[in-house]
Amino acid sequence: MNEHTNNIVVRMAPSPTGNLHIGTARATLFNYLFAKKYGGKFILRSEDTDKERSKKEYEDNILAGLTWLGLTWDEFYRQSDRTEIYVSYVKKMLESGSAYISKEEPKEPGQRTEVVRFKNPNKKIAFDDLIRGTVEFDTTELGDFIIARSPEEPLYHLAVVVDDFEMKVTHVMRGEDHISNTPRQILIQEAIGAPRPVYAHLPLIFDAEHKKLSKRKHGAMVWIDTYKEEGYLPDALLNFFAFMGWNPGTEREIFTLPELVEAFTIERVQKGAAVFNIEKLKWFQKKHIELLPAEEQLKFIAKDFDMSEPVLDKEKIAWKQSTPEEARKNLETVLPMIDDEAMIMAYAEEAGKGNVLWPLRYALSGKEKSPDPFTLMKILGKEESAKRIQRALELL
Ligand code: GLU
Repeated sequence: MNEHTNNIVVRMAPSPTGNLHIGTARATLFNYLFAKKYGGKFILRSEDTDKERSKKEYEDNILAGLTWLGLTWDEFYRQSDRTEIYVSYVKKMLESGSAYISKEEPKEPGQRTEVVRFKNPNKKIAFDDLIRGTVEFDTTELGDFIIARSPEEPLYHLAVVVDDFEMKVTHVMRGEDHISNTPRQILIQEAIGAPRPVYAHLPLIFDAEHKKLSKRKHGAMVWIDTYKEEGYLPDALLNFFAFMGWNPGTEREIFTLPELVEAFTIERVQKGAAVFNIEKLKWFQKKHIELLPAEEQLKFIAKDFDMSEPVLDKEKIAWKQSTPEEARKNLETVLPMIDDEAMIMAYAEEAGKGNVLWPLRYALSGKEKSPDPFTLMKILGKEESAKRIQRALELL
């Protein structure tokens, strides 16, 4: 891909059948990055053709969550506003013979006995997926699948294909769980004379045990709201999502959204599963807090942390089995290193991490639990940090 490819149009098409899921947020990010990187258009489309399961409150939640993350769209559509367009395509397909009204045996008395089926040409289809390479399917096994419940009630596959055609979508980037939908959608495209978009199926997200992330198994951790409520920064989440399936090919890991746009290339999206690692997210959060101006960092951490001068308990300064003498020696050693995380860490590796980092953190915070000493020192500043370490030394 080069950056001057013309008229790129991508779309994210969530179904509003639940709140904003991290998989949806991540796929949205990739679409957004792709559009911005190549100067294209990013469409958001609410796919609410399933009337029973779709709810306006879910749509509102998805839009609010994406807005909070900073993933803004250029155009927005809702499928339920577009039924007439799909109906006109069903009509055309019935006229051309690429679809037909099929009389069905009612399974129960009183059930509908007519549906609209697609006339499957039963052929082999191959498409070049930007992430997965060539994918082949024999469509014979799909049979004459249903595209509308009646000529007035179009179903999902038809709506997707019509929308992508009418909206001039050039690239369809979505989760790999949709790969089996692609042959059906290609057949419908061919029947209505729509060009085939380029496909890019993103790897799914797995947990540490290699289980697919799902709301049933993983509960609240799949919802964006959970992270928002826990105080995660949008930039930390975006950075984390970007690295679930992509990497810049360099050692660099910390990126803001505009920096991700700059660095993103579709060629570096991997096809292997992406792994969700909460420790990694916490690390991104810490790094993104550090990018905030000092004042905001303070506000941020002050939310659940009292920054006022601590009253130290002498007995708690030394780490577990270590001695006050050792704590004193270690605090004296790190005092002149205050600015230098690498140097303190190098010393701590040698003298024992707990022996060095515990007294330091406790001296700075006076608490058994607090952010790590480096975060604290950044927030407190050199002078205040030194003062607190001195105070602890006086006690020892
Ligand atoms: N509406 C589908 C979903 O929510 C996505 C369809 C697509 O991206 O083509 O999973």
